[in-house]
Amino acid sequence: MTFVPYLGRFAPSPTGPLHFGSLVAAVASWLDARAASGRWLLRMEDLDRPRCEPGAADTILRQLEAYGLVWEGDVLVQSQRDDAYAAALGALKALGAVYPCACTRSQLARTQFDQAPRNPEGEILYPGTCRNGLPPGAVARAWRVRVPDVSTHFVDRIHGALQQNLAQDVGDFIVKRADGLFAYQLAVVVDDAFQGVTHVVRGADLLWNTPRQIYLQTLLGLQTPVYAHVPLITNAAGQKLSKQTRASALPETGRGTVMAHALAVLGHAPPAELAGTEPAEQLAWAAVHWQIENVPTRPAVAKPAP
Ligand code: GLU
Repeated sequence: MTFVPYLGRFAPSPTGPLHFGSLVAAVASWLDARAASGRWLLRMEDLDRPRCEPGAADTILRQLEAYGLVWEGDVLVQSQRDDAYAAALGALKALGAVYPCACTRSQLARTQFDQAPRNPEGEILYPGTCRNGLPPGAVARAWRVRVPDVSTHFVDRIHGALQQNLAQDVGDFIVKRADGLFAYQLAVVVDDAFQGVTHVVRGADLLWNTPRQIYLQTLLGLQTPVYAHVPLITNAAGQKLSKQTRASALPETGRGTVMAHALAVLGHAPPAELAGTEPAEQLAWAAVHWQIENVPTRPAVAKPAP
């Protein structure tokens, strides 16, 4: 038998406590690692300091423990990794792959047609204003990656073969923001490589970020992990669960019922006699029965807390 090392991770942003949607992503990633006899690491993505909530990182660790999601080793904390991100940006500059950009959000949002073109995610497609040099007198604010007008193909373990044209669907994207913070796209790529991540299992809201990350990995000479994107969880109104949509924190009672619901939306409903038992017991059952191809692609609606 050949030994295939598996290293997975969960990378929450401590903008608030975990909600049902983040639990589903954590459970899927934990199970996939456990089923492969792999390792499962934790990374606190507190990169966007203004959006982080004091105390949320500790709350998340306690919630994971309470739901039986045990991680290995020390938690990697993104706010302590600026040197690594700066080094990666330096490498991109040396390659001529990035350029300084002076555009403000409001300039980008206003065009001659009033409405800037956006991709299906609602992001503004960068029109390339600073691509060939800053306009006279303009001051650099952010750094953008110059993207190619070719299709990036990748295979998601749940969604199958996908492709995206970065130039047409995303545009030159930001790797260092105007407020001086490094962007998620750069940090996630640097950290997945640093931690040796082989398998990324995360929410489907990040599916269309994947080609950006693969492109950065290619530029930086980093390994591309295998990706799987689990169903997005919405509220009854069809909105993605998030702080903005006031998703409630995972409940502290009735965890067994919540875990059974998480496993059900992942296509792995436990047998009735297990459904209300301790989360760890259900996870142990699910790890034995885990088949990632049984995870649905469509979004699921969260049930109200028990
Ligand atoms: N920090 C991101 C989030 O909480 C996840 C990033 C990732 O898994 O790549 O949505």
